[in-house]
Amino acid sequence: AAKDAGRATSEFFNEGLREQATNHLHMHHAILQGLQNNEFLVHYQPVINSKDGTLHSIEALARWQHPTRGLLLPKEFISIAEKSGAIRELGHFVLTQASRDLKKLHAAGIDGRIAINFSSHQFYDRIAVEHWFAIMKEEHAAPENFTFEITESMLLPDRERQRELLLEIHDAGITLTIDDFGTGYSSANYLRHFPISMLKIDRAFVEGVPDDPHQNALLSALIHMARALGIDVVVEGVETVSQVNFLNMQTANLIQGFYFAKPMSIEQLIKHYGRKEKTARSDG
Ligand code: C2E
Ligand code: MG
Ligand code: MG
Ligand code: MG
Repeated sequence: AAKDAGRATSEFFNEGLREQATNHLHMHHAILQGLQNNEFLVHYQPVINSKDGTLHSIEALARWQHPTRGLLLPKEFISIAEKSGAIRELGHFVLTQASRDLKKLHAAGIDGRIAINFSSHQFYDRIAVEHWFAIMKEEHAAPENFTFEITESMLLPDRERQRELLLEIHDAGITLTIDDFGTGYSSANYLRHFPISMLKIDRAFVEGVPDDPHQNALLSALIHMARALGIDVVVEGVETVSQVNFLNMQTANLIQGFYFAKPMSIEQLIKHYGRKEKTARSDG
């Protein structure tokens, strides 16, 4: 009976794995197909300097306008893209689109780097990195226009190869930001060994601020730690004026959150933050 049970379990297990594999294969195909059919797009969310309301930088966020399921957010496809390998093509698309949109931003008088998200799955070898440089060159977008957002897992000591790739990227003029800071392994020590320009403190640390003293203490500790290391800070997920006021008191002025702006199309971004054009009717 024990043997039967064992076999049943393993068959069940294999069935589950097979289903998962089939599903991944399907999704891999669907994502590549979607890229072919131009169903993917990039939205942009500004990082605002709360001192004067000016735009500091812009984060590129992938979206999938699915033919039957509607507009899909990254939680519906990024992790599948990572597991299936389609993240490679998706990453190329996002970087290409951002490089093109950069020209529109410059034409509208909008400066500031575009932040591109990269998961550790995308840093597999030098060929991947060379491909990114080839895209920027092809699109005539200088590396100095970009910051790459990576996560703390990339800073682990056993990631020697990734460390080399990060140094190469940094040397080319791209700045590096640690995204979702505070949610991964505490890497305060490793931060010293990497050319990191900025930390983005995860939204989880803003929730409850300023009513929860524990959260207030944590958030302000993270801000001060970054500062002690000489690294700029962006606080993500800021939704209320009282959160903005709290951050102002900490002199943490770089803010990304729904309070200032949600992710939007390039056209909307230009409309809101571009140089205001004088209209024919203007008499001033
Ligand atoms: P992230 O890089 O931490 O991006 C910030 C996320 O927080 C975005 O979600 C944004 O819409 C959301 N957000 C910003 N402000 C607020 C706020 O005030 N309140 C709330 N509730 N949310 C806020 P989104 O666009 O759904 O992206 C989720 C994640 O997907 C990103 O988190 C990033 O890790 C990943 N992602 C997005 N685009 C790409 C991509 O092109 N490549 C890779 N590898 N990952 C991507
Ligand atoms: Mg990000
Ligand atoms: Mg984040
Ligand atoms: Mg993230």
